[in-house]
Amino acid sequence: MADTCERCENSVDSVTRYHDHGVDKLLCSACVSEIDEYYSITCAKCGKPAHLRGNLIEFENEKICPVCMDEIRLQEN
Ligand SMILES: [Zn+2]
Ligand SMILES: [Zn+2]
Repeated sequence: MADTCERCENSVDSVTRYHDHGVDKLLCSACVSEIDEYYSITCAKCGKPAHLRGNLIEFENEKICPVCMDEIRLQEN
């Protein structure tokens, strides 16, 4: 019997219970690595985890958080 991932709702051979980062779901391996990756991404400038500061913005080939982006914009003016 196939299991269903509670996140992407795909039918997969096996799901894992994932309970990190406030998530508590049965997930397929693709979703697990996606979430792990999401929480391991940090701002290239301040080094803070990206998920704490919103979506990262691409700036001069680096991914930086909106807080650092604001600082850069202020400095440019
Ligand atoms: Zn999934
Ligand atoms: Zn930053």
